[in-house]
Amino acid sequence: MKPLAPSPTGLTSAPTRPKSASPGSSAVQRRNSTSSQKNGKDDSGVPGRVRVAVRLRPRNTEELAADADFGDCVELLPELKRLKLRKNNWDCETYQFDEVLTETASQKRVYEVVAKPVVESVLEGYNGTVMAYGQTGTGKTFTLGRLGEEDCANRGIMVRALEDILADISFEHDAVTVSYLQLYMESVQDLLTPERDNIAIVEDPKTGDVSLPGATLVELRDQKSFVELLQTGEANRFAANTKLNTESSRSHAILLVNVKRSAKNKQERDFASHSENGNGVHVSKGHRAPTIRKSKLLIVDLAGSERVDKSGSEGHQLEEAKAINLSLTALGKCINALAENSPHIPIRDSKLTRLLRDSFGGTARTSLIITIGPSPRHRGETASTILFGQRAMRVENMVKLKEEFDYKSLCRRLEAELDKLIAENERQAQAILDGEEDMQRKLEEASICVAEAESKFAAASETFAEKETYQKKISAILQHHEQELNDSQTRLENERAQREKLEKELSEANRCLQEQSKEKHDTGEIWTLHKRLEEELLEREKLDEEIKSLKQQLLQAHIEAEETRRTVGKGSSARSSAGSDSTISLHRPSNMRDTINGQRATIAKLFEQVGLQKILSLLESEDVDVRVHAVKVVANLAAEEANQEKIVEAGGLASLLTLLQSSEDETIRRVAAGAIANLAMNETNQELIMAQGGIGLLARTADDAEDPQTLRMVAGAIANLCGNDKLQIKLREEGGIRALLGMVRSRHPDVLAQVARGIANFAKCESRGAAQGYRTGGSLLIDDGALPWIVANANNEASPIRRHIELALCHLAQHEANAKDLLVGGALWELIRISRECSREDIRSLAQRTLNASPIFQAELRRLHVSY
Ligand code: ADP
Ligand code: MG
Repeated sequence: MKPLAPSPTGLTSAPTRPKSASPGSSAVQRRNSTSSQKNGKDDSGVPGRVRVAVRLRPRNTEELAADADFGDCVELLPELKRLKLRKNNWDCETYQFDEVLTETASQKRVYEVVAKPVVESVLEGYNGTVMAYGQTGTGKTFTLGRLGEEDCANRGIMVRALEDILADISFEHDAVTVSYLQLYMESVQDLLTPERDNIAIVEDPKTGDVSLPGATLVELRDQKSFVELLQTGEANRFAANTKLNTESSRSHAILLVNVKRSAKNKQERDFASHSENGNGVHVSKGHRAPTIRKSKLLIVDLAGSERVDKSGSEGHQLEEAKAINLSLTALGKCINALAENSPHIPIRDSKLTRLLRDSFGGTARTSLIITIGPSPRHRGETASTILFGQRAMRVENMVKLKEEFDYKSLCRRLEAELDKLIAENERQAQAILDGEEDMQRKLEEASICVAEAESKFAAASETFAEKETYQKKISAILQHHEQELNDSQTRLENERAQREKLEKELSEANRCLQEQSKEKHDTGEIWTLHKRLEEELLEREKLDEEIKSLKQQLLQAHIEAEETRRTVGKGSSARSSAGSDSTISLHRPSNMRDTINGQRATIAKLFEQVGLQKILSLLESEDVDVRVHAVKVVANLAAEEANQEKIVEAGGLASLLTLLQSSEDETIRRVAAGAIANLAMNETNQELIMAQGGIGLLARTADDAEDPQTLRMVAGAIANLCGNDKLQIKLREEGGIRALLGMVRSRHPDVLAQVARGIANFAKCESRGAAQGYRTGGSLLIDDGALPWIVANANNEASPIRRHIELALCHLAQHEANAKDLLVGGALWELIRISRECSREDIRSLAQRTLNASPIFQAELRRLHVSY
């Protein structure tokens, strides 16, 4: 056998291709290839030459004895990675290898330099092949298959490779499966399930990937089970070879390790783990399919490479022997073709070359160890082995990452995410439904609360309004009492001054008397003076008495005012009685009325003690305060029907009218008008008032006064006069009605109520007169322009005003002579309203009767198609 063309250094050239990489640069290129593969820019891989190491077996016992006189046929120069093969005693050939392992090289070192880089490469996602080639007995099985049970230092490449693989992978994401096969006479047998014979080799037409779907695949979890698997395989190999009447050296043992890694780097793993195990619903961005790396490690213990004729002792026929070695021959041819860059590589010639298609000239990282013995007797075989190794070193592979997208896992993950989303969606829909119901319930509750609050508010406003009315009335009463108190005090002061004056006069008189007696004036004069003194003293006693009584009265009034204040403060529940009587008084609570009654009783007592004449004379007092006080007393007396006649008889009416006419004091005019109003309750008095020109005075006061209380009194007095049938014409002629209507300018409800009462009284008399036939023609009220105000206030919200006007309208409408004016004035609609809505049944039916009785109204209603 010829050595290869010597290199310029005189050595046989080894790696020949210029692109061949050193071990260091190969690692760099591997990394580059990884990234370029990931980017998908380079699909062709990077060049990676088949790496070849040579291992020399130490001399065995036989050789030690038989070759004792001969030297070894090889000489190793490990530091130069060279091997010298002796041709004869004076000539030798030198060969360069990637590694040269001497007979003393440890199994560990062999693994590290031959197999470890391939194993690491497989873990990174490349296919890898470690193969042993050599003559039977040179240590192929020793190198690859030793289990090292007796001595762990003897562990071979298979055991160490799996140790490294199992240590590196994560069982959570990765998987390692193993098949163990034997190829004998072009038949693939399963060493783990021996009955599986002739297992088909399947090639993927697209990728060229080779697989053995019929072979047993054992998933590995630990090293122990792998060692057991190898033992089982060995036992089965031994049994199969016994059955076939052959030896293991004639068959090829193939350990196929599949490494499947789901994602290479930590980031990708985190991503995968989050997407698959995360509790939250999380859809990975873009649904990028995770990458999966499926790499294969082939460890091949080839049959002995010795020539068949030399080992024909096994008794096989030549053809049979050729068949036995067919695969190995084909491998040699392929490697030759590859080494010489031949366009045709006869891969399909044998099953072995088909199985190793990726290992030589393919995409795998391949490491070949050739084993040789030292004996010169086998020099020829050794040389042949060396040449095989040299050719293999020229085989260039294109190392390529075995990475693909894991669409199945992506699909599984997306399905899981979809399921989670569907479940979450269902939960959310339910939550929305629940939320809506809750909201509806709360809305209903809220509207109930609002309704309750509204009704409470309405009740409270009503109470508040009532309270406010009471408050106003109370403050008016208090003001009144305070005023009285002040008046009394002033009067007291005056009387005190008068008394002091009298006392002075008395002492002056005494002094004069003494002087005169000294001068012995005549006794007659003394007697006169004495008499006068006595009279003065009597007068003084009387005044003292009066002052005492007034003081008591003042005290009483004070106590009553206090009591009233307390009663009013205590509760606003006491309701005022809306008195319809014509007596002029404020609407007062019943307890107030008691107080007033108490006051009246006091005044009655005063009346008895002092005498009416005396009180009336005080009306003409010089002192305005005395006049004020006196007119108040008279007014109070006039409120009692029993006193009215006495007051008039004593000339009280005349005095009151004079006061009304002449007094410039507002209080006097007010109280006088009140007193006149009270007197005007009586029919005889009404005529007297008229006869004494009272209506004129009242009308003037009505025009001049601004104070609503004065106006109320005046209106009350005129209203009482309005109720007298005989006085109608005179009352109207003397401006009574106009004065009454003029007072509506004060919008005070108390004044308006009195005006309304007057109108109602007047209308009532008119309708009575018309009914009795002594009155014809239209209403004087209407003539004096009362109708617009009547219509405008027919539905006044203050019930005393409304009630009087409703009555007045009914009375006016009863007289057909008024009907036209009422129609024009818009009163018909008010009458209809009264007939339908008035709260007082008698007024309602009066309105109905009136409407039904009037032909003019009926005609108008028919004209307007108002069904009535
Ligand atoms: P092969 O598998 O190549 O036929 P084996 O591995 O069976 O050869 O080796 C043949 C014999 O040589 C065995 O007894 C083995 O223990 C021994 N042997 C092989 N290589 C070595 C070595 N490097 N050191 C010591 N003994 C070895
Ligand atoms: Mg062997």
